[in-house]
Amino acid sequence: MKIIIIANRLPVKIERTGDGFTIERSEGGLATGLGSLETEVEKYWVGWPGIHTDDEEEKQEITEKLHQLHFHPVFLSDEQISNYYEGYSNSTLWPLCHYFFSYIAYKSEYWAAYREVNALFCHEALPFIENEDFVWVQDYQLMLLPKMIRDRKPATSIGYFHHIPFPSYELFRVLPEREEVLEGLLGADLIGFHTHDYMRHFISAIYRVLNLNCNLDEITLEERIVHVDAFPMGINYEQYHQAPALPEVREKSAMLREKLGNKKVILSVDRLDYSKGILHRLTGFAQFLENNPEYHEKVSLAMIVVPSRDNVEMYAELKAKIDQAIGEINGKYAKLGWSPIFYFYRSFSFEELIAMYDIADIALVTPLRDGMNLVAKEYLAAKGEQSGVLILSEMAGAAIELQDALIINPNNKDEIEKAILQALTMPDDEKRERISRMQKSIAYRNVKRWANDFVKELRNIKEQNKEILLRVVDEQQLIQIKSAYDEADSRLILLDYDGTLSPFTKMPEDAVPSEQLLDLLRRMSADKRNKVVINSGRNHQILDKWFAGLPLDFAAEHGVFYKDDGEWHRNIMEKINWDEEILEIIQHTIEKTPRSHLEQKDAALVWHYRNVDVWLAELRTQQLVNALIGPCSRLNLQIVPGNKIVEIKSPDYNKGSEVIRRLEKGTYDFVLAIGDDTTDEDMFRALPPYGISIKVGSFSPAAKYRIPLQSSVIPFLNKLIQ
Ligand code: UDP
Repeated sequence: MKIIIIANRLPVKIERTGDGFTIERSEGGLATGLGSLETEVEKYWVGWPGIHTDDEEEKQEITEKLHQLHFHPVFLSDEQISNYYEGYSNSTLWPLCHYFFSYIAYKSEYWAAYREVNALFCHEALPFIENEDFVWVQDYQLMLLPKMIRDRKPATSIGYFHHIPFPSYELFRVLPEREEVLEGLLGADLIGFHTHDYMRHFISAIYRVLNLNCNLDEITLEERIVHVDAFPMGINYEQYHQAPALPEVREKSAMLREKLGNKKVILSVDRLDYSKGILHRLTGFAQFLENNPEYHEKVSLAMIVVPSRDNVEMYAELKAKIDQAIGEINGKYAKLGWSPIFYFYRSFSFEELIAMYDIADIALVTPLRDGMNLVAKEYLAAKGEQSGVLILSEMAGAAIELQDALIINPNNKDEIEKAILQALTMPDDEKRERISRMQKSIAYRNVKRWANDFVKELRNIKEQNKEILLRVVDEQQLIQIKSAYDEADSRLILLDYDGTLSPFTKMPEDAVPSEQLLDLLRRMSADKRNKVVINSGRNHQILDKWFAGLPLDFAAEHGVFYKDDGEWHRNIMEKINWDEEILEIIQHTIEKTPRSHLEQKDAALVWHYRNVDVWLAELRTQQLVNALIGPCSRLNLQIVPGNKIVEIKSPDYNKGSEVIRRLEKGTYDFVLAIGDDTTDEDMFRALPPYGISIKVGSFSPAAKYRIPLQSSVIPFLNKLIQ
């Protein structure tokens, strides 16, 4: 068993030397987190090595060297990098996920390359994947990969982590390839996000775009359940916490302090990116300088901008605007010996960066959108025993955990100004208290915990999905069930109708039995050893009409009515006179819920909502159930939420009571019950120990077996009676 991590980029630096290549591991956050995963498990990485070559011998050499480190390279051409990486990943998905709607590029060559490269990653990874392995796909460059792997290796346990925000459905829906992207992700068993908000947006996109059943954090597919969860990514806390004590860092900090004297330093560190809110931050800082002249010559902003994607036009433009804004602020306020902004447009070494964290009095982290933002966490970790203040944008994923920061809206320059002032005047005790609470939290939720939690959950889900798979009726199980059927002299066969014998239709009255079904039932009931009962929630009139002339037995309205040997009987003698209050509550719900309606049966009321938006239906179901609890408990009625319905009925009868009645009346050596709804679980539970219960659709622990698709039920019964 091993873990195969598939990421756009391998955590290595490869450089050409005169006669070959040098390869060095690079320890980014992800690499550290994953590196710390349980040591007994072998780890493999698959990813782009970050170097381009068309020479097969060179590729061979790099591949062999990387294999020694358990890394496997996926070589990409310049064109692939340009269309898949800079194109679809960074010019379509990145602005989409960061809410930069107008920056989204829609180009068919980007999408074509994205698919092609995802398929290439799949092709390269497949030879490494064995049955018991775990595959962990990283980030938005590889959103199609989970499904591609699943299609070729269905039994693999696959996880996916999304390192950037996931946008709200209203934005996500603009993506032309939205279905394929979501279907790609659903190849995974576990899909992780940094925050619950991203998770919520993803689930909302799943049921709106793909119309799939979602139950809180689970998405039910035919053959397995996909779990969605939040795993806020952490940092290597100890490394950052201890780094200020490194001799090289101490030397650098001392030098910086000497140069700065007693001036205060506000630090900002970002990659060059429009999502980071650098221009907004500069506007806020300029306003602070304008309104608070007493801080001139006392406070400077050290702004580190790490070059990134600056060959892309939009980024080059942003860089020009930042240069200009900084030039204007410095030009306006600088004095001899004091510059309001120290601007660094370059990458810092680890030691240099820690020295900056160490001497900075304030960290000003104001992204307009950020999946997590690790700089905020690193700053806090590196503060050690010293105090410092973090000003943090509420739009950064990190803001969920770091509530002791000064939280601001990055679009509001007044808030930025106010927060800088508050940070500059904050008493030392308060600074210490805030920082130590946040340090405790990030020390606990570090990157090791992040990686281990994810893999632990992936393992649990693997077990759960195995169990679900085990219950699916396959050839082997069909043979067992059939031999019990063949050996029996007296059989009771209980079949639910909607969603079991008939597909779930838009309108309930459209679910007329097919010829194929009528033929099956005719043949089944022709065998004298069979007692075939349709055990349905439908009213008895419609069942009579639909199955006229067939020698079947029925239970209608959840056991309130039953038909034995051609005669209808009713357990409740009177037609229920529905209480005005109950009818009014339902009527009110219908008025507020377009496309829902009421069905009045003799012994039950049913509110149907199968064509209502999922979110609205969920809200109305809760409101309806809450409103009905009082009157229903007074009148001794039961409220049963079912598949796209809420039913109000007598508590004395259900599909289970009908099973019990029949078992008391007759003796059977074979009992089979098939159903798809929660109400069918009463039927499953009422079966004798030798009874065979089969759940259609999603998994239910109440049933021994499962048939994932409704369309497989009739073929199954045909094979059974052959
Ligand atoms: N960083 C770096 N070199 C620098 C400045 C920053 O490697 O010169 C690192 C920083 O320590 C942090 C990462 O870049 O770990 C930035 O991560 P963050 O989540 O803040 O933003 P991202 O760039 O991933 O959007």
